[in-house]
Amino acid sequence: MVQANRVNNMGKIIAVASGKGGTGKTTSVAALSSCLATLGYRTLAVDFDAGLKSLDFALCMTDYAISDYMDVLKGIYSLENAIHEHQKIPNLFFLAAPNTSMFDTAPVELDALHEMYDRIRNSFDYCLIDAPAGIGEGFRLAHNGADMSVLVTNGELPAMRNAQRAAGIIRSMGVEEVRLLVNRVSPSDYKKLHSTIDDVIDAVGARLIGMIREDKSIMLALHDNIPLILYKKRLAAYDFLDAARRIRGEDIPIRKI
Ligand code: ADP
Ligand code: MG
Repeated sequence: MVQANRVNNMGKIIAVASGKGGTGKTTSVAALSSCLATLGYRTLAVDFDAGLKSLDFALCMTDYAISDYMDVLKGIYSLENAIHEHQKIPNLFFLAAPNTSMFDTAPVELDALHEMYDRIRNSFDYCLIDAPAGIGEGFRLAHNGADMSVLVTNGELPAMRNAQRAAGIIRSMGVEEVRLLVNRVSPSDYKKLHSTIDDVIDAVGARLIGMIREDKSIMLALHDNIPLILYKKRLAAYDFLDAARRIRGEDIPIRKI
């Protein structure tokens, strides 16, 4: 059943992280996975933020956060039985995080994690992992065996420094493809700070995969319980679509914001 509609032979596991909290990881996982699914790829969005889950809100799938990845790692549910397909976005599937933090449960067995990643690669074209903030256990686990990392930052100094630190750790773990998603871009703010996107790229030291503009519709869509890509005003959704197309290897020029 899960093999249907595959486009790629081997799926790609992409951990989305930041170091600093609140930069837009969850928003980005929800929007990028929605865009990849809309482009025709079987896509799985995994909430790896155990204990503080919020991807179910961003995907408007709170009713589907029953089984979680810990159930899969423990062998209580098969991957197929633990995931849920989105009701409004075909090709998009969701795997929730447990309610309890990783530190309150038995340690994650790396073999079980790698087995789950392998099963995901066999069944999906793309899997986006919403990694927890920080550079601790959960962040490292999310990247352990991942194929790519997307670091989400904004133009603020602490976020950039944390992203740079996170990039170093991710590379030291053997994840070669580390790309940068600069979120909440507001030209007037950058002007006031005498800063540019190139400054952010230089500060973090990773190639750009996309630039997402500051857009109130992200908050409004969340409030109205409508996925961003289906929301009436959705300027940032076009930026996420560009980034999703770059993830699949298209050469899309950076849109002028
Ligand atoms: P994280 O998962 O990194 O903690 P979230 O994705 O939850 O961050 O985003 C934090 C907050 O920032 C949310 O309230 C979200 O609505 C808001 N936000 C994220 N990206 C944007 C954006 N491009 N424009 C406006 N608000 C945004
Ligand atoms: Mg989050």
